[in-house]
Amino acid sequence: MNSYDVVIVGAGTAGLILARELGKSNRKVLLLERKKDLLEFSFNTLGSFINLDEFGLTHNVVAQDINTISFHSKRMKRKIKSKLYILDKKQLHIEILESINNEFVTIKTDVNIKNIETDIDGNYTAVTDQNKNKYIGKIFVDASGTKGVISKTVGLTSKNPDLATGLEYNVKYLGDPGEMHLLVGKVYEGGYGWIFPLKNERAIIGFGTFDKNIVKDLKNRLHEILETPLIKKLVVKDNDKVEGASIPITPVLSKFIINNLVCVGDSVSQVNPIVGEGYKFIFEAALMAAKAIDKALQNDSLQFLSEYEMNWKKRFLLNYQRSKRTQGRFMKYSKADFLMDYILFISKFIPDKRCIKSLSGEYGLENK
Ligand SMILES: Cc1cc2nc3c(=O)[nH]c(=O)nc-3n(C[C@H](O)[C@H](O)[C@H](O)COP(=O)(O)OP(=O)(O)OC[C@H]3O[C@@H](n4cnc5c(N)ncnc54)[C@H](O)[C@@H]3O)c2cc1C
Repeated sequence: MNSYDVVIVGAGTAGLILARELGKSNRKVLLLERKKDLLEFSFNTLGSFINLDEFGLTHNVVAQDINTISFHSKRMKRKIKSKLYILDKKQLHIEILESINNEFVTIKTDVNIKNIETDIDGNYTAVTDQNKNKYIGKIFVDASGTKGVISKTVGLTSKNPDLATGLEYNVKYLGDPGEMHLLVGKVYEGGYGWIFPLKNERAIIGFGTFDKNIVKDLKNRLHEILETPLIKKLVVKDNDKVEGASIPITPVLSKFIINNLVCVGDSVSQVNPIVGEGYKFIFEAALMAAKAIDKALQNDSLQFLSEYEMNWKKRFLLNYQRSKRTQGRFMKYSKADFLMDYILFISKFIPDKRCIKSLSGEYGLENK
């Protein structure tokens, strides 16, 4: 039976970047994915403040360049000048896949990991799939996203976390292609709506909420939103293909490692709490994890894995805790149109740069 330096469960955002980085340092990696097709997704576009160069990505992954974010509440509009991207998820994953070193990284699809095995010292020895096949490695990574197939089993995250869920339609777009829209107020209760412009006069319109009661009726709520006067001016629904998915909402976590098991991404809730931006933050976490794993393998000592947790805490913990508090306040205020109108009115006196800090969750705080 083959044995690997690193066995990664899940070939999503986190798993792919980890595999790419570890492949670069010639680590023997096995990447296991339950889907048959790596490029099949339940939604296809992402809004992101990402710096593409930082992650070795080209502009080909961009579906649209954005220069303005417009916030809309019932009676107010606040425009903010800012550069960000609408990313084409498929193109992004193709680009990462093309940059993976196939000599060292093996990808297996249609492998649904069910379990992780330990030895008597509590070290993890193998993961097993739906057909009881075993995959053996020195270090294991849970990058299985919301499923958290291992992180939940070992107790790093709750078995039944609350979920934020979003639904989207790809629609005809009548607005400015460089202007992205974020929509708040009573009709978007417990969350917010978005319009992501794409090329060729198309856009994605979506609504996501943290409120369990609204999630049950999400599709009807999205249809109601499509009938509001503001949205009717901006988009025309011309098909019924609905896309969407969920992300876990947990308290901000900061423990991602047990012995030779490392967890990255949504499996340990590393999506930024404020707007649910995951890619940029999870890429960064995956780079940190890859560095620590490489060092642990190089020195044949698991203690180096803790550098990943330490660096993550330093970079993200205080920013995430602040975003989490903002998320809580936002959920409360989102129930009342007059409060959202008031917040947008007040925000006109706040410089664009400060508004972007709150929106992106990048407050520049550092945990010493
Ligand atoms: C509706 C919605 C909208 C979003 N919008 C944005 C956005 O605009 N911008 C942004 O940056 N982020 C956005 N996010 C967040 C972002 O998509 C996630 O945070 C990010 O994809 C998480 O990456 P991950 O690698 O942890 O998980 P995923 O990308 O979900 O990857 C997990 C992988 O593991 C596989 N897997 C699961 N279980 C198993 C198993 N048992 N065995 C083997 N493989 C398994 C899955 O099939 C999947 O391929 C959004 C999320 C949702 C739900």
